[in-house]
This record gives sequence, structure tokens and C-alpha cells, in this order.
Amino acid sequence: MATDLTQRPPRAAPAEATMVGNRGKIIGLNDLMFVSKTAMHRGNGPFKLTIALTWVCDQQCKHCSIWSRPRSPELNPGQWRQVFRSARRTLNWLDLTGGEVTTRPDFAEIALAAIEELPNLAMLHFPTNGRRPTRLESVVKAIMTGGPRRLVVSLSLDGPPDVHAEVRGDERGFEQTVESFQRLRKLGIETYFGLTVSSLNIQYVDAAYDALQERIPNLSWSDLHVNILHESAHYFGNTGIGRPDSQKVHALIRSLIHKRGLPTHPTHLMERLYLRRVGDYLKSGRSPVPCTSLRGNAFIDPTGQVYPCHIWDEPIGDLNNYNLSLPLLWSSHRRIELRDRVKAEKCPGCWTPCEAYPSIMNSLPSSLWSTSGADTSP
Ligand code: SF4
Ligand code: SF4
Repeated sequence: MATDLTQRPPRAAPAEATMVGNRGKIIGLNDLMFVSKTAMHRGNGPFKLTIALTWVCDQQCKHCSIWSRPRSPELNPGQWRQVFRSARRTLNWLDLTGGEVTTRPDFAEIALAAIEELPNLAMLHFPTNGRRPTRLESVVKAIMTGGPRRLVVSLSLDGPPDVHAEVRGDERGFEQTVESFQRLRKLGIETYFGLTVSSLNIQYVDAAYDALQERIPNLSWSDLHVNILHESAHYFGNTGIGRPDSQKVHALIRSLIHKRGLPTHPTHLMERLYLRRVGDYLKSGRSPVPCTSLRGNAFIDPTGQVYPCHIWDEPIGDLNNYNLSLPLLWSSHRRIELRDRVKAEKCPGCWTPCEAYPSIMNSLPSSLWSTSGADTSP
């Protein structure tokens, strides 16, 4: 059984570094250091990991079949601690995902292990479906006892209540997700909604926003983050689902960029840079900026199998065969060979925030000034 981590005394967060409760802040010193460290990264280990901690999920989305997988063996908190410790020199950005991470009773324990083992951890993010607000709130409180520099939580949403219910097979899901948002914002946590656009919901983005605003009057468009559905065999298990209509996506992205206005926060800036390049991706099917996968970032599944990203079903190796050491795996021929294939664009190509954000940061400042993608016509 997991320890009750909410009883731990809170560890003080570094003064300037915390983003909690400062959603309106313009880029600060720590953000700049984070960006420059990431941009200068030279590939001696990952600076960012996306880790799926479990395949277990308590919703049944139509665009994702993770929920239908049998539970796989999962690395335990002690094993994840070992992985984090091995990467402490390079790792500064962590996305912990699933499945639904809060279904793991030891999720907070794993997040705390990351905070404790990674002295340069500048960003800890996890997505959740938010369908169990009290459980989520207690998990977040437990994680905050570790004093993370920056904790960001995204709540998955697929449309207004009826569309959300239809896509997720969950009648009450919308109201529970809203309640989760309100609880976390009340705690001062940087929280936003994440909407994955697919052919199931592309026409309902405005309706989703209106329904949210009815319930959360001070909501703004920058609280709703939008990305485009991708196919992935080893992660979503949704091969063949197809992309939403490109013309409709272009129109949506143009309107979102307009509604969101000029960014006043690092997260809003990244979102804007991401959205501006969606048009380029739709035209070519390739990442619009050089992809940093396997130079600075990678994806790990619940068993410890490492992949270039959550899109490309090309395993590099199993951490269990490398003594749970990322640097050992990073120096393998297989990693180097696959990195060469990423550079040569011999991969499926994608533009998902998990991998696009580190690639954008690595391409700064050209991503900031490039006008490419500003016109999102086909
Ligand atoms: S999209 Fe998320 S909530 Fe939906 S089935 Fe997949 S993992 Fe679960
Ligand atoms: S561009 Fe290729 S390697 Fe990079 S994240 Fe997308 S599929 Fe993966």
C-alpha cells in the first residue's frame, strides 16, 4: 500500500523558481535558464522524458485504445527512482503520463522520487482525465510537499458535456473535470485544459469553451490548449484512425491564434509557437523544426522500454537490460543509429506537443522570429 504522502512536511520551493500561483508572470530568470540549458543541450543524455507510468485508465476514449490494454508489468517507485538518479546530470523536464496516472496508488511517490533525485528538474507535468477530483487533489497536495520548482497539470477535455461524454464513454466526465480544474486552481496550481482535436470533435471547440466559461467565469482562451490527434501503434494503439480534415484544422488554428492574443507567459508562448507551425506540419507531414528525439528527449513505457517518442514504434531497448541506467542506454549503438534516422527524417513525422515543445525550444531563437506557419492555409 502507498504511504500517505500528504502527511509529509512541505519542502520549500526555490523562491523565484515557482510558477505556482503566478499565471500572469512574464518570462522570469528561471524560465530563461531553463530555455537556454535546453537549447544548448548537446546530447549526452536526455533533458526531457515522457514516461507512461501505466496503461490502466478509467475512461474509454474513442480515439485511444490504451484503456483496452491488459495491465503490463510496471516499474515500481524504487526502480523509477533509480532511473531518475541515473539521469540527474541532464534531465530537467518530465512528463508523467498514462493511461491515467492517478490510478496508480504510488503515483505521488514516483513524482516525489523525481523531485528528490533531479536537482535540475525545472518542469514537472502530468495530464489527467480529472474524473476523480478529490483523488487528484490529494495526489497534487502530496506532490507539492516535495516543493517542485514548477508543477503543471493538464486536464483532458474533448468538447462540451455531451461530446465529452460521447468521446470518453463517461456521462459525468465533463463536470468532474471542471471540478478538478477548480480544485487545483484554488490550490494555486498551474492548470489548464488540453483538447485533442480529432474528426470526432473538431466542430465543437467553441462550444467546449462556452460550456467551460459558463462554469468558470474567469476562464480565458489561453487556459485551453489544443493539439492535433496523431496515430501511434505502441502508445495510443489507434492506427488507422486518420487525421481531422486539414481545411477545418487550418480554420480552427487561425481562429485560436487570434482568440488567444499575444502571449504573456512562457507556456502561452510555447503554445503560440506550436500552433503557428501546425500548418507546416499539415502540408508536409513532417516536424516543421528539427526533431530533438533521441538527442534530448525520449519516451519510456510502463515496463521500462525506451522509444524515440510516443509516435514512432521503434524500440531502442529495455532499461531493465541496462541496469535501469539511462546514460548506459543512451550510449548504445541502437540509440545512435536511431538518432541518425531521426535526423534523416526516416521516421513517421509528427507535431505533437510532447515532442514539438522541446524541438521548438531547441530551435530558439529561429522559432521565435520565423514567420513560417503564421499563414495556416493549406
Ligand atoms: S486518451 Fe487518456 S483518458 Fe482517454 S483512454 Fe486514452 S489514456 Fe485514457
Ligand atoms: S518527428 Fe519522428 S522521431 Fe520526432 S517525435 Fe515525430 S515521429 Fe518521433
